[in-house]
Amino acid sequence: MSKPIVRHWSLLAAVLLPLLLSLIFSYFAARNQLSHHMSSIGESLMNHSEQISDRAAAMLNRLQPFSAQPCNRVLIDIQRISNLNAYFRSIGLFEHHEILCSSAYGSLVRPLNSLVPDWFSLQAGQVSALSIAGTYGVPNRPAILFVQRNQDGSGSYVIIDGQYLLDFMNAVGRHQNDVFSLQVGDGYAIRNSQLAPDNTLLWHNFHLTLHSARYPITLSVDASASEFIRIWLQLLLTFLSLGIILALIFILLANNWLQRRHSFRDEMRRAIARDEFFVVYQPVYSNQTGTASGMEALLRWQRPNGEWVNPDMFIAAAEAEQMIIPLTRHLLSLIIRDSAGWQVPDGFHLALNVAAEHLQDESFLDDIRRFARHMALHTRQLKILLELTERSLIGDPQAVIGKLNELRREGFYVAIDDFGTGHCTLSYLQTFPLDYLKIDKGFVAAIEDIEGETPVLDTIIQLSHKLALQAVAEGVETPIQLHYLQQRNVAYIQGYLYAHPMRSDALMRWLKNPPTFPPDSKTPG
Ligand code: C2E
Ligand code: CA
Ligand code: CA
Repeated sequence: MSKPIVRHWSLLAAVLLPLLLSLIFSYFAARNQLSHHMSSIGESLMNHSEQISDRAAAMLNRLQPFSAQPCNRVLIDIQRISNLNAYFRSIGLFEHHEILCSSAYGSLVRPLNSLVPDWFSLQAGQVSALSIAGTYGVPNRPAILFVQRNQDGSGSYVIIDGQYLLDFMNAVGRHQNDVFSLQVGDGYAIRNSQLAPDNTLLWHNFHLTLHSARYPITLSVDASASEFIRIWLQLLLTFLSLGIILALIFILLANNWLQRRHSFRDEMRRAIARDEFFVVYQPVYSNQTGTASGMEALLRWQRPNGEWVNPDMFIAAAEAEQMIIPLTRHLLSLIIRDSAGWQVPDGFHLALNVAAEHLQDESFLDDIRRFARHMALHTRQLKILLELTERSLIGDPQAVIGKLNELRREGFYVAIDDFGTGHCTLSYLQTFPLDYLKIDKGFVAAIEDIEGETPVLDTIIQLSHKLALQAVAEGVETPIQLHYLQQRNVAYIQGYLYAHPMRSDALMRWLKNPPTFPPDSKTPG
């Protein structure tokens, strides 16, 4: 991706991400807050209803002693008790189907079902309760009726005025537009609003139902969508201010990162211009000839202050920052410069590490051919070997196969590097025109003794034989590893045991006077 595009996207992400997070977090926090609010007001309304019911039950008990007595004897007391208690609309006594005495109508005898339009069956000795839409005297205001009947058919009743519950509902639910519905027994539903809550827009209805453990009271609470949105917006403001701070931090970090990326690329360009890179060459040993058969070019970077930059690090960074092609061209020019005084045996090969991006770039063939022409001026007998990683082969296989075929026809060789560490399928090995297979040093390091089990390594070696590829083992550090690989006919050996990577002049001296190898030709014990 080009630099301005990366910059725009990173900055956009730095701004949008915190905003999106604020939106999501505040949404869930608002839901949480609303359901908390609903259960807390629901519980307090339920408590209130239970307390009123407790009073009614206590009042029924208090009326019991009066139930057998004539109304004119007890009426004064009944009216006094009723007036002292604010919640009661009326209280009274009845016998069978007639009200004989009431705080509201005195000793006027009325049928019991005139008290409420819909009377209900009474169990003797039990307190029954029912919410009702209205009473005989006050038909348009809901109430709760509590009744206790004795064995002999006499009994007492208490009517709680529903207004107290409605006031309470309005007090706790007014700002929130909450809709409460309270039902006692399977009576009339006492509601603070006849409107259905406007929460159908929300994918989750805010609805809560509570049941009393002591009375047959059922309470439901519905919150409105507008209430939810009000809480959400309120929280969003808090979260947004946090989000804006976060966005600012993100922008700073993103900027910093872009700056650093930018400066790393600049740094590499400067390092090329200041000649801070150089090439080292690591010889490869041929088991067949018993001599050095070639070498691998490896790039090194030393800063002016003497500090080394790790090749794995700067190669990966160059690949990530689209600098690998200029860097490889620089490497090729350094090799050309080094090769001016080279004298190498016939058929000696020079291995180059080729990055996936370069291989897939259209400049690749020209770059390699130009390099080969320059090299041929000094070292006609040198063979050039291209080391590709498994990653290079994926992407556009047909194009890569075409390029490799052309190059091989022109006398180049191809190796697959770090074999076994990538994600190359075995079928690729058959499809691609290859000459060498480089066994990754990780597999070589696993060899601990000559009899040891290294099934993966053995399989790779067998595979190279079956595919008629020459195997090169890299990272060979011990005589045991060497012996193990020689026993299994691995054709080439590369590693510190044979030679470390060297600068060009040291390598030429080394080639003129190579050390005896293996150092101790007896089988290691
Ligand atoms: P590679 O291609 O697998 O190179 C072999 C690495 O193993 C080199 O590390 C070499 O110094 C190291 N080595 C050689 N013998 C031994 C040994 O006996 N033991 C151990 N432990 N290591 C050994 P180096 O030079 O640090 O390079 C690391 C990687 O960086 C290379 O791995 C290669 O992938 C990349 N690289 C280096 N130079 C270039 C270059 O010019 N172009 C590209 N594209 N990649 C390069
Ligand atoms: Ca390599
Ligand atoms: Ca390798």
